[in-house]
Amino acid sequence: MASIFSKIVAGEIPAYKVAETTGFLAFLDINPLAEGHVLVIPKKEVDELFDLDDETYTGLQIFAKIVATGMKKVLPCKRIGVTVIGLEVPHAHIHLIPINGVNDMNFTKPKLKFTPEEFSATAEKIKAALRTTEG
Ligand code: AMP
Repeated sequence: MASIFSKIVAGEIPAYKVAETTGFLAFLDINPLAEGHVLVIPKKEVDELFDLDDETYTGLQIFAKIVATGMKKVLPCKRIGVTVIGLEVPHAHIHLIPINGVNDMNFTKPKLKFTPEEFSATAEKIKAALRTTEG
C-alpha cells in the first residue's frame, strides 16, 4: 500500500507544499513542533533514509539544504534543526525544524496547532523566500 507521503506526491491527499522538483517534495508537517516545521521527501517511496540509492540520498540532502536556507530567511529562529526519525511514516523523510534551543527538537512535547489559514501563510512565506533564493 502506498505511504501517506506517496498519496501526497500523487495529489490524492492535500499538503501545504513549500517546494517541489521532479524528484523531491517539501511540505509542512501537519503536527509541527514549531511554525514552519517542514518535511522533505524523495518522491520515490523507500522506507528508510539510509536505504536510498546514493543519487537520491545526495539529491535529498541538497534539496533539504535549499529548503532550509529559505526557511532561515523568514522564520524567527537561531538555526534550522535537522533530524530523521521515521517511526511513524515508512517513507524516507528529513525533518527541518526552526529552533532556538535544543528542547525545540523534543518530539515528546505536545505538537502545535495552526489553522489552515496559518499553515497556508507559513507555506507561502517559505515559498516566497525560496523564489528569492533561486533568483
Ligand atoms: P516520523 O515517521 O516518526 O518521522 O513522523 C512522521 C511525521 O510526519 C510526523 O511528524 C507527522 O506529524 C508527519 N505527518 C504524518 N502525516 C502527515 C501528513 N498527511 N501531512 C504532513 N505531515 C504528516
